[in-house]
Amino acid sequence: MPTGTCPECDADVHVDTDADKGDLLSCEECGTDLEVVGLDPVELDIVEEDLDDDDDEDEF
Ligand SMILES: [Zn+2]
Repeated sequence: MPTGTCPECDADVHVDTDADKGDLLSCEECGTDLEVVGLDPVELDIVEEDLDDDDDEDEF
């Protein structure tokens, strides 16, 4: 089973053999949501979730 490295805590994260780019998974160590961004080798990126539903769009 291929593994990637969690960018958040450096743990080995198991990735499905049939995983594809864009697949989402969670780090078993820290629970961070990760996205598969590369397959050979496996690369993982942190998914930035928009939990903020407020109208906080004054960053222009
Ligand atoms: Zn982690």
